[in-house]
Formats: sequence, structure tokens, C-alpha cells
Amino acid sequence: MRLRPVLCRARMPHHRKLPMTEPTPLTEAQLRDLALQADTQPRCADCAVLSRPAWESISGATATAQLDPVGPLGTPDIAHRLTEFHPQGTHLWSPDAPIALGWHPYNQSTLWRCRDCAGVFLRYTEYGGYYQDERIRPLQAGLLVEPPYQE
Ligand SMILES: [Zn+2]
Repeated sequence: MRLRPVLCRARMPHHRKLPMTEPTPLTEAQLRDLALQADTQPRCADCAVLSRPAWESISGATATAQLDPVGPLGTPDIAHRLTEFHPQGTHLWSPDAPIALGWHPYNQSTLWRCRDCAGVFLRYTEYGGYYQDERIRPLQAGLLVEPPYQE
């Protein structure tokens, strides 16, 4: 078993709470900075298994307790958008699919950051008719784009 340093600061509660006010979405510049900070150090063991470049479904067995929520990428008024941005013929599950701010599913994604290794990950939940699927993808600065949204 791996020992972790004891942290003095208060940790986020494990259960999610609704914020009192609407959080401000992270900007493209903030996201790029956090992705570049993450690139300066190797991923911890828990994050290493999450660090495949495409979206992945996460099961209950996947370790994500090392991640703290940082903020949303979108606002509620754009959460209904369903169009994806794939000018180079990629698709949702492509490892090189653009991380297109304002477009599905990034409009519904939240950024999470590892308190051990500063790794940053996007997460969103896909709601199907009879299922819901939690998904995670590493934030990669080289894939970040912010093209104007079109249906
Ligand atoms: Zn980590």
C-alpha cells in the first residue's frame, strides 16, 4: 500500500453539493494553464490508469477519490447543445478529437484536478434512456479549441 502525505488543508467533501451561486466557467486560458502545469510532472498511480487520451467510461471500481472538482466548462444556458465539433473526421471516442469549448460534450463537462500529481481531467455524465454513463478524459492543451458554436 502506498503512503500518502497528510494534508493540512481541509478536503472537499466526497458528496457533491449544489453551489449557492452559479460557478463561473473556466476560460480557455485557465484550462490551457492547468493542462501545461500538469505536463510538468508525471501522473500518480491512480491518475496513470485514467490517462488514456480518449473519453473512457468509469466504473465504480475506478479510483477517482484523488480528484477534486475545479469548475465547469460551460453554463446551464448552453448545456442543451448536442452538436459535436469534428472538422478532421474524428468522433466522440477518438483519442485526437478536439476539446471544443461550447460544444457537446464539453459544454456539460467539469474539470477535476488531482491533489497528488496536478493531473487534470474532464468529466461528464451521459444520460441515456435507461442508463447513465460517467465518462472521463484527460485535459490536453494541444487539443483545446474554442470555435463559434453552430448547430
Ligand atoms: Zn494524480
